[in-house]
Amino acid sequence: MPPPEFTIIGAGLAGTSLAWALVRRGRTVRLIDREPPVTSSRIAAGLLTPITGKKLSVSWRWGELRPAAERFYRSVEAETGATFFRPRPILRLFTSESERRQFEGKRATFGELATAIDQPPEHVAMPFGGFAMPTAAQLDVRGYLDASREWFRQRGDYISGPAEPDRRAATEGGPYNRDPVGAALCGGPPTAAGGRHLTLHCTGYPPLPPFDAVRFRPAKGEILAVRVPGLNESRVLNRGGFWVAPTTTPDVYRAGATYSWDELTCEPTAAGRAELEASLREVIRLPFEVIGHDAAVRPIVEGQHPRIGLHPQDSSVGFFNGLSSKGSLTAPFFAEQFAAFLCGAGEIEPEVDVQSIM
Ligand SMILES: Cc1cc2nc3c(=O)[nH]c(=O)nc-3n(C[C@H](O)[C@H](O)[C@H](O)COP(=O)(O)OP(=O)(O)OC[C@H]3O[C@@H](n4cnc5c(N)ncnc54)[C@H](O)[C@@H]3O)c2cc1C
Repeated sequence: MPPPEFTIIGAGLAGTSLAWALVRRGRTVRLIDREPPVTSSRIAAGLLTPITGKKLSVSWRWGELRPAAERFYRSVEAETGATFFRPRPILRLFTSESERRQFEGKRATFGELATAIDQPPEHVAMPFGGFAMPTAAQLDVRGYLDASREWFRQRGDYISGPAEPDRRAATEGGPYNRDPVGAALCGGPPTAAGGRHLTLHCTGYPPLPPFDAVRFRPAKGEILAVRVPGLNESRVLNRGGFWVAPTTTPDVYRAGATYSWDELTCEPTAAGRAELEASLREVIRLPFEVIGHDAAVRPIVEGQHPRIGLHPQDSSVGFFNGLSSKGSLTAPFFAEQFAAFLCGAGEIEPEVDVQSIM
């Protein structure tokens, strides 16, 4: 069998979306993942939130990223027969009178992104009121990744196991494109399509050489799974950056997430759990039981936007990473943009070119 045109290291949100975008363009891929029990994608709540942060800002490029995400996930649902993308309103609950006033001052600029809450949630504290975001959505990230992995596995395009970066080549200044699963592809041999073989790094955090030169600002996040009998809420509740999101299991919700910039491990901490439980008590007026607790590192890079592109010294290795806290929203659009570029049918926007942060 001829070698694939593209080897993709990492089958999280970035690598999986890029694999779909390339296959749809008729390209051959090989997707590799070492399958640790916890990854950033596998514990993410998958929220797509139009208005975010303390300053109540419209999410970066929401108007183009949100429709692109829905189109993309719907087409993967059609291909795999699985369901994982759900429009799901988010209720933003004000933390204070001044936040409410801030919202009123900006309200006209939000248009259809912010509406009145037509049915106030039961058993929820909202002394300062709030607003609804009807165009929000939730990706069942695990569902998307599992269905995709199975699809690629059945085609013989998926490998389970670690890809080994060529550290020696990296320290000697390249070339970097040794086949990460064994056979030497150094320099990029011809492929079936007559082009070169490219290795695309979609590893989240930490990056592999030679992309360890990319300026990362990673943040650890912890998240709880809680059982709250009687809450009966199908919308997401968000208060001051803390959210409670329904799951497909009745009475079970996910609550998160913390941010910390040290101890960048996937180890949940007692402090993280205490912080999340305290936030949950401020929002929900019902008893709850913690049934799960996870932690992972968000791959955030300088500038906080996703990055795509080829290595400046070796154009046979590429990068798709930096999905930060919004991978569910941004992965489809930038996977499409990178795939179009790799197929000679488009450009990389300077704003997201990895070469500008190396
Ligand atoms: C607590 C928490 C909550 C979050 N909530 C949301 C949310 O609500 N909405 C949202 O959009 N985003 C959310 N995020 C962020 C989101 O998870 C990330 O944007 C996204 O998962 C990043 O995806 P990725 O594919 O770049 O990285 P990862 O998910 O880390 O995937 C990288 C993959 O590469 C593989 N890999 C790495 N090195 C190798 C190697 N050498 N060989 C083989 N495989 C390798 C890993 O096994 C992994 O599967 C959250 C993150 C956290 C931590």
